[in-house]
Amino acid sequence: MIGNYTIPPKTYFEIASLGYLLVLYLISFHDVTRNKIRSYKLFRNLEINMLLALIVSILTYTFAFPELGTPIPICTVLRTLDSILCVMASRVFAVYLFAYVDTDGRLKVLSAIGNIIFAVYLILMLLNLPLKFILWFTPEGAYMHGPLFVPIVFTAPVFYLTSGIVILITRMKSLGPRERVALSVASFVTLFGTIIQAATGGVILLSLPFGSVGIFVLYFSLETADYHQLLKNNEMLRIAEQDAIKANRAKSDFLASMSHEIRTPLNAILGMDELILLETEPGKEAGPSFTERIRGYAENIKDAGNVLLSVINDILDLTKIESGKMEIKPVSYSLQKLLKDVGAMVSIRAEQQGLNYVQKADPLIPDNLIGDELRIRQIMINLLGNALKYTDSGTVEMEIFMKDQTAGSLTLCICVRDTGIGIRTEDLPLIFGDFQRLDEERNHKVEGTGLGLSIVKRMTGLMNGEINVSSEYGKGSEFTAYIPQKIDTEAAKCADKTADKAKRDDEIAYQTPDCLYLVVDDNKMNLLVATRFLGRLGGQIETAKSGYEALEKMRETGYDLIFMDHMMPELDGIRTYEMSLNDPDNKNLNTPMIMMTANAISGVREEYLEKGFADYISKPVELNELLKTVKRLLPPDKIK
Ligand code: ADP
Repeated sequence: MIGNYTIPPKTYFEIASLGYLLVLYLISFHDVTRNKIRSYKLFRNLEINMLLALIVSILTYTFAFPELGTPIPICTVLRTLDSILCVMASRVFAVYLFAYVDTDGRLKVLSAIGNIIFAVYLILMLLNLPLKFILWFTPEGAYMHGPLFVPIVFTAPVFYLTSGIVILITRMKSLGPRERVALSVASFVTLFGTIIQAATGGVILLSLPFGSVGIFVLYFSLETADYHQLLKNNEMLRIAEQDAIKANRAKSDFLASMSHEIRTPLNAILGMDELILLETEPGKEAGPSFTERIRGYAENIKDAGNVLLSVINDILDLTKIESGKMEIKPVSYSLQKLLKDVGAMVSIRAEQQGLNYVQKADPLIPDNLIGDELRIRQIMINLLGNALKYTDSGTVEMEIFMKDQTAGSLTLCICVRDTGIGIRTEDLPLIFGDFQRLDEERNHKVEGTGLGLSIVKRMTGLMNGEINVSSEYGKGSEFTAYIPQKIDTEAAKCADKTADKAKRDDEIAYQTPDCLYLVVDDNKMNLLVATRFLGRLGGQIETAKSGYEALEKMRETGYDLIFMDHMMPELDGIRTYEMSLNDPDNKNLNTPMIMMTANAISGVREEYLEKGFADYISKPVELNELLKTVKRLLPPDKIK
């Protein structure tokens, strides 16, 4: 009892539902983190709608009676609102259901029909206020239903719920077991309550209490934070699994391509070696042109060795770029000098192939630039190398120009053109990919890994530049790299340095008859190569096959230069060097020690120099580089 008003028993279920729905609302209230999830947002709408519908329904069945003194207009408004909120609740429920089931949005038409039905229903309910044909109160205060009451008030909710259930059944397969059970139970319970209420003409109020049971089921099975977290984790796991599968596939592809690329030159090397062994079998006669044949085999071995080296360098570059270890090291350099070097190298190859090589550079480009000279050289050589590889006759041309010049910077444009086989238009977007070798039937005789352009593209990217290609199949190609460079304003200083370097480069013809060298390496072949190379300088060469042997020798003899390998069993090169420094009997405390190693990862030079090595030479050793290094480190009076 509240004043004149008595709470009618038929609303008891509604009051109970209101109680637990409020608790549910409070539990889910602070969980704002999930407000972005669509189904959860719809769920919250459903909760609020159901709460409002329950409150209005309880108020209606308690107060909307004129005989209890409530004014007739208020009674009418309450009755109307009660009906509207009930219909809205079933509509929101259906929308929630659709969000779960209709992930591909194919049921938009059904949603649109739902909206139209709701609009028509609203219009009829509003028209009912003046026209009194659905529900109304007589002036005497009697509550009346027209014949249209049940069809109008219950058609919409029954339509929403049944269409939701039908869709649910047809899409059952796309749902997980938990969703299937929760959504089915919630829908059937809600529909059941609505049908009972409709069947009894509103005498038994079960639509909202049963709807609340549905909401309760939905919350604790699908909408709790734990379950959402579980779904999120599952999704993340699925993505991680796919990534892992992709990465694994990429690794397998990479290994397959690499093993093919490495095997090809290795086969040639082993094959040629086999021939040499056969020809030089003990007791076998040398025969005519023996030396030429052996030389021929040796040349083939050299070519294959170079291919192998370039494959390994490419892999190393690519791995460095991929692991983010390739650093761009800006240095001051002379563009003229760079172009001269590259030009000299390329024109020899072009001549051998009977091609014309043209090199043009805008004379207004400042000569002294700051940028990663090594990488720019690599880009030029790569593009020119391709141009030479894929051109049978005609001209290969490199044109250097600039754009966007300011006082301190410019964009260096490297354009490499050829009159070669060209690239098919459909292949153009692919050529910068890893291991992309195109037009294989035409190019099968051309050596290559399909890594060159991929590396060029990535290197240009690392230097904040870009590269374009245009080509006409059968006529030729044009690659243009745009690379921002700084202008070195301290030009004079730099010019001196460059001049010095140029002078050094030209001076590798010399002898060191009075020098004594020590070469330390655990590999016999490497010792042989190093002693042969050093042998060209005259002087004496001693070798040591381990760090300990080297330490012993250093105690016995004072050398002019020591070459040290890094990776050696027992005592590696760095440890040997450190131990030699602490050895009081060491006669070589002031002898320059050169690290000569196959470790060619970027940044290692600096690491070795920091440790105290006088210089660093990477294996396979280049004769000229070795000779230049030796000359630089020996005292001038030892050089003849
Ligand atoms: P590759 O080691 O095979 O030369 P690249 O990555 O350097 O690898 O080049 C990828 C592919 O692009 C080549 O296999 C070739 O089909 C095509 N290509 C590259 N440069 C040229 C060019 N100048 N003319 C014609 N085709 C080219």
